[in-house]
Amino acid sequence: MSYQASGTIKCWKKYDCLGCGAVFRHRFERAVSGQGGTAEQAEANAQQAGIAALQNQVDTIPCPECGRVQPRMVGHDKNNTHFGLTVFFLIAGVVLLLVGANDVTTRDVSAYGMAGLALLALLAHFLTAQSDPNANQDANRARALEKVQSGAVEVIRTGDPSNGEPQPPLTTGGHTVYLALALGAVLAALVPVAMRQLNGWALADADPPVLGPGDTFRVTFPDKIDCVKSLWRGSPQVTWDQPVNGAAVFAETSTWGNMSVKSSELHTAPTLWADVKLPPNADLQDKELSGTITMPVEYPYANTSSTMIDKNTTVRKQFNVKLSKVNAWKSFRAFWWSGLGASILLTLLAGWGFARLAARMKWDSPPDLVESLDTPPEDLPPDELARRRDEARAAEEQQQQEQRDRKPWER
Ligand SMILES: [Zn+2]
Repeated sequence: MSYQASGTIKCWKKYDCLGCGAVFRHRFERAVSGQGGTAEQAEANAQQAGIAALQNQVDTIPCPECGRVQPRMVGHDKNNTHFGLTVFFLIAGVVLLLVGANDVTTRDVSAYGMAGLALLALLAHFLTAQSDPNANQDANRARALEKVQSGAVEVIRTGDPSNGEPQPPLTTGGHTVYLALALGAVLAALVPVAMRQLNGWALADADPPVLGPGDTFRVTFPDKIDCVKSLWRGSPQVTWDQPVNGAAVFAETSTWGNMSVKSSELHTAPTLWADVKLPPNADLQDKELSGTITMPVEYPYANTSSTMIDKNTTVRKQFNVKLSKVNAWKSFRAFWWSGLGASILLTLLAGWGFARLAARMKWDSPPDLVESLDTPPEDLPPDELARRRDEARAAEEQQQQEQRDRKPWER
């Protein structure tokens, strides 16, 4: 049995504006909940969640006096975005890797796709790091003044924008390092394509798509069998059209006896295949090989729902493969996996780095102060506060009036 406790924390968060020295505070609200084995435990966990929200969560409210978004807010937002991008590109990269490894697309296409994904990640992180929430402080200020009107924001001490501190830089040397990692991710994904072309490992419509002496390729048969539990065994033989010494051929080697079988497994139709292992013979490089595989197949057939008999058939298929260099597939596959794997890792590492830099901006900047909702605005007497509020309202109304007075094409 588990208990649930939930509630809403409400408070003021107060800032000393770095842009003008004003002191302002805004209403902060978060729904929190906790679970536990007892009601008390659930309550305690909900309280913990509340404290964590107070410490970690930040709302982006520009200063109503100068429009500056505080570095803590900037860092918080950027950290969230970088983190989300990192998770997204990690998942997308792994999906693309699996798609490529299953030859849904050609290996070159999956490598180019990974490079494209890494480039997108680089651009997304770069734009996130570069984006400046203080590019238009006038618009920020107008937004904040609306909140002053509604009572969600209070100005406690007026500011002097001529006396503010400059903004901390949005990007630093650290960003250059992580951008370089992100660029490395783009290049890493292109390594298998480059190595393939440099070494003359041709792509072919075969399984695997790159093939050389010493590698193993698979021939699949169009014939279908009706067997139990996808069980079969084959004894394939190759007849080569050219002399090839030292090739070996394998197929499935299942065995069966008494076994329990689900009704869905009574009639299955697995794909029949044979693997041909080529000798690592340099004489075969860049040759085209053809031949025929003849394969007697044995399989268990369910003649009733509770009994089965062994059946036999023989399948036959011609094949034709174009070889490139010795062990081309083993080498290319190693480059493909390490290149695309490194690309995912470097993108992950770069994303983590960008998120860390944003987190540092957040935690290294002056903090917000939490006040309970009934704390009076200390620095201003109530009538002064009311006067400021009226002023803000009048300014806002005047701005709206100006907006209405403008000709439509000026808006
Ligand atoms: Zn300010």
